[in-house]
Formats: sequence, structure tokens, C-alpha cells
Amino acid sequence: MERKALVVLSGGQDSTTCLFWSIKKYKAENVYAVGFDYGQRHRKELLCAEKICKNAGVGFEVIKTPIINELSANALTREDIQVDKQKPEDSTPNTLVEGRNLLFLSYAAIFAKTHNITDLVTGVCETDFSGYPDCRDIFIKSLNVTLNLAMDYNFVIHTPLMWLDKADTWALADSLGVLDIIKNETLTCYNGIIGDGCGECPSCFLRRRGYEEFLKRKGN
Ligand code: ZN
Repeated sequence: MERKALVVLSGGQDSTTCLFWSIKKYKAENVYAVGFDYGQRHRKELLCAEKICKNAGVGFEVIKTPIINELSANALTREDIQVDKQKPEDSTPNTLVEGRNLLFLSYAAIFAKTHNITDLVTGVCETDFSGYPDCRDIFIKSLNVTLNLAMDYNFVIHTPLMWLDKADTWALADSLGVLDIIKNETLTCYNGIIGDGCGECPSCFLRRRGYEEFLKRKGN
């Protein structure tokens, strides 16, 4: 039986690149994606994810997890909290939602097992580690063991971006032939502007810096 994969998809650059990585590895008919509606400011990102999946021929479902917003006050979910322009020196950025990847991957695993899917794909990355502890490789490995024990199932969590920097992620999108889709149809910006974004927020800064580095390495 062919393996199937479930991609945790936010509609941003990283997870969308993972979607296309998965399509190449498993073929579109064996790939599914889930997005999470947790009261984030920019639910538009879920619309981006939906559209990208539709065009790619991949099934997409939104899982509602409003509890995350109820428990966690932070700049990603609360209109009244401004996104820090710079990461505070001695703490994590105020866009951190504690335990978000733990919850997302656990919900995704439940969904996956229900649909006979073993492989989970997530765009977490340790290289651009902004102090989010549940983006670390050691956490993913630990969670993989925990999920297998929790559900008596052989999940395999794939993290294609774990050791890539932002320029490498652009290069991966380029090698998958989806550079334009990633550049124009994904939403990474904290201010909700699709594609190149507002150019001001920390997310746009990282995205643009990575893109420029990618072009430089490519020799343009
Ligand atoms: Zn922005």
C-alpha cells in the first residue's frame, strides 16, 4: 500500500513548501492537508492554504481549535497586542503561542490515524529558531515517540525544513518548480498582506532577507 502523508498547512511560506515537497514524494492523490483555526489574526492564511490545495489537487480541512486562543494571550491571536518589531533579547517573541506545535501535531495525528495516514509533515525549522522550543528537532523526535505510544501506531514525522535556512527554503521551492506559487500565493506577513507582505514586520524581514540571499547564491 502506498504511504499517505498529512501536511500541517498554515498557508505560509514554510508549510506550503512542505506541501509541494510532499506532493513530489507521495503524489498529490496521497497527500492531505489540515489547517488550524485558532483565532489567529489572519484567518486569510487559511483561505490561501485552501486555494493552494485546491489548485494542487490536495484535500484540505480546517480544524477549529479556539481553545488555544482562550488560553494564550499573544500578538498572533490578539488584535490589542502589537507584534514586537524586534525579538526581545532575553525572551521569546510575543508571537509565540506556547505549545502550538505540540497541539497541532497531536490533532493532526488523530486526524491522520482516522484516515489511515502514517506520515505527518511539518514545516518546523531549527535553523531560524526564534526561541520557539517546539520547533526543535529534539522535540519532534520526542513527540514522534509519544504519538506512537499514545495511539499504538507507526507515525513518521517528516521535517523537510529542519536544517534549512530561509534562503535554502526558497531554493527548495525553486527546485520543486513552485517558486512563483510560494512567492505570490502564501501569507507569512503578520499584517496579513499576501505574497511579498508589508515589508515591515519581523516575518516579512526574514522572508525578504532569505529571498535576497537565495538570489545571491543562485547567482542572479
Ligand atoms: Zn509583514
